Amino acid sequence: MDNVIYDYIVIRYGELSTKGRNRKDFINCLHANIRRVLKPFPALTYEKFYDGMYIHLNGEEYQAVAEKLKKVFGYAYFAGAIRVPSDLDAIKEAAYKIALSRPYKTFKVNAHRNDKSFPMTSDTINRSVAGHLLANTELKVNVHEPDLMLYIFVKKDATYVMDEKVQGPKGYPVGINHKALLMISGGIDSPVAGYVTMKRGMRLECVHFASQPYTSEQALDKVKELLRILSEYQGEIILHVIPFTELQMQIYRHADESYAITLLRRMMYRIADRIAKKRNILTIVNGESVGQVASQTLESMSVIGSVCDTMILRPLCMADKLEIIDQAVKIGTYETSILPYEDCCTIFAPKNPVTKPKAEKCERYEARFDYEKLIEECLANDEIVHISFDDKKDTEELF
Ligand code: ATP
Ligand code: MG
Repeated sequence: MDNVIYDYIVIRYGELSTKGRNRKDFINCLHANIRRVLKPFPALTYEKFYDGMYIHLNGEEYQAVAEKLKKVFGYAYFAGAIRVPSDLDAIKEAAYKIALSRPYKTFKVNAHRNDKSFPMTSDTINRSVAGHLLANTELKVNVHEPDLMLYIFVKKDATYVMDEKVQGPKGYPVGINHKALLMISGGIDSPVAGYVTMKRGMRLECVHFASQPYTSEQALDKVKELLRILSEYQGEIILHVIPFTELQMQIYRHADESYAITLLRRMMYRIADRIAKKRNILTIVNGESVGQVASQTLESMSVIGSVCDTMILRPLCMADKLEIIDQAVKIGTYETSILPYEDCCTIFAPKNPVTKPKAEKCERYEARFDYEKLIEECLANDEIVHISFDDKKDTEELF
């Protein structure tokens, strides 16, 4: 195990694409999100500077704090740091400690002098610290591919000496860009669609259509577990569980089997549309990808999407399934997504689903039953569940 010696974490925002008032909102939102994920560490204290912030660990464990920070969108990188007075001997001492904290063999010093009143230039600091390490350790200089890149960040009040910069997940802080209603199934795609939506700064609210008793309690638990994983990025997620069985049965009763999925999905969009309007949500997001299945040909997507006038975003629409799977593995949803519990679209799946549905034909089938009333019933029975990462993981029996 590495010998962790940091007493601070330095977070840098990087190039913010926003200016003026937006910049302020962006930073406030980012700070709020950082403080939310770091709530379990009460000893931490925070200090802002122009394009970043310092977190004083005050004895909290660096690794545990770092793991939480990796789940925050919107900053460029963070680094564990030793803070010392802006004084050359103190800087050398910190550099020495860091150089010995891991089995490094080669190094390069990279000083940045933010405080121009500091009596040495960045270059002189580099040479002086490098000389100290060469004289007192076994390490050698390698300017091209060093094991240890030693960053020295000289400010007026203090200097921060750092080694590893940890890249954040980038994106915008969740909450800076309004809300999105994610249609979440238990599959691989929709959690990934949710992740990239949060990464663009949108807060998720979710809707799931459940067809119990044809879909099991475990299928719903699986969806909740997926959202529990995603909630680490935004805090609590609201899930609307819509009982869909009756509507689904009526579709099968009144329409040709080949149109069942098309009609089913038109109903999903109609319901999502109502929820979005009621909850003041500007966009519906889902995991559709062009060509993936019969209901995702362009013809299908157009006939299905036309029932809904809330804007629909399909963040994965041009992605390959393998790329989506890679991302699902990275964000930790894949293992849960591939659990074998059936979704409402897979039960009674038609043998020959239509790939080029006609809007008029859909309308003709839909005119055969009072779907408006059934939609109202679905909405009246909307079960709202609040899901958060701190919830007990009570879905272990799924695996
Ligand atoms: P995924 O696409 O998430 O892997 P899937 O392949 O089972 O799941 P598709 O049939 O591809 O789902 O459906 C496309 C999209 O429609 C899903 O990504 C999801 O956004 C939405 N969707 C499908 N089934 C449901 C459901 N039961 N509840 C809510 N949304 C759903
Ligand atoms: Mg899919």
